[in-house]
Amino acid sequence: MHDAAFAAAGIDARYELLEIEADEVEGVVREAHGPGWLGLGVTAPYKQVVAGLCDDVDAEAVTIGAVNNAVRTADGRLVGFNTDAPGFRAAVELAMGRPLAGADVVIAGAGGAAHAVAFACLDAGARRVTLGNRSIGRAQELAHRFAGVGSGRVAAAALGNPAFLAALRTADLAVNATTVGMVDRGMTIEVEMLPEDATVFDLVYVPAETPLLQAARARGLRAANGSEMLIAQAAIAFERWTGVGGMAGVMREAVAPLLADAAARA
Ligand code: NAP
Repeated sequence: MHDAAFAAAGIDARYELLEIEADEVEGVVREAHGPGWLGLGVTAPYKQVVAGLCDDVDAEAVTIGAVNNAVRTADGRLVGFNTDAPGFRAAVELAMGRPLAGADVVIAGAGGAAHAVAFACLDAGARRVTLGNRSIGRAQELAHRFAGVGSGRVAAAALGNPAFLAALRTADLAVNATTVGMVDRGMTIEVEMLPEDATVFDLVYVPAETPLLQAARARGLRAANGSEMLIAQAAIAFERWTGVGGMAGVMREAVAPLLADAAARA
């Protein structure tokens, strides 16, 4: 995806995958301060630790509590930022066919991705956000963290408990931000509780159609997987590294066969 964008933009650079252990993270971040680097993309489980190793972190990423990209400045400093939040917002507003402002949202999950999703919803003016997680303590911590973001109300619940189910009944949007559907079987959201005009958004993109998305479509709800979020967040990072925007189309085309292949093997 990134290499296709580099080629299309005529930039002599490549995106390299580094599979590293926890004790190698500090060394890689140090290396990325060097002149040959444009920046870093960071994935789980290093989104928090890299934030602590950057020279500076954007205010939004500080609030979210996770850095999924860093850019190397001309004077060799690494600045961490988060593109999961704006990537999610772009993709979900497309899926909903309306802005997040004023929306009633239910989010399943309280991990790194849920941090970005909850922030994006509240920052965009969601009216109410209910955070449901298997471990209620993590949902409560997240609700506490974002209580001051935007003017919407934030509540925490355990997945499947009465408060969570009640929130689903009035939701405009229900989001799966857990690994369920990708790692574990099953689904986190009781689709039958949702209103007829609700949208279901699953951050998982492999498999392309999780049981949750299948159930949502069977009920005639709007439904989308996480592939557009993946593409949108990557295009935002690419622009920050290179100054070249408008690469989402090139990236979508490049990633499509890879996603199809991964889905076939899932
Ligand atoms: P994470 O930090 O490891 O969090 C995992 C979350 O899943 C936690 O809330 C965990 O609950 C929950 N969970 C795991 N197994 C569960 C089960 N069997 N039942 C109920 N809940 C369960 O992971 P993450 O980084 O947030 O990623 C979450 C998902 O989002 C992944 O599938 C990832 O691929 C996807 N993602 C997609 C994009 C995109 O661009 N589309 C971007 C980022 C992430 P507990 O707290 O109770 O353990």
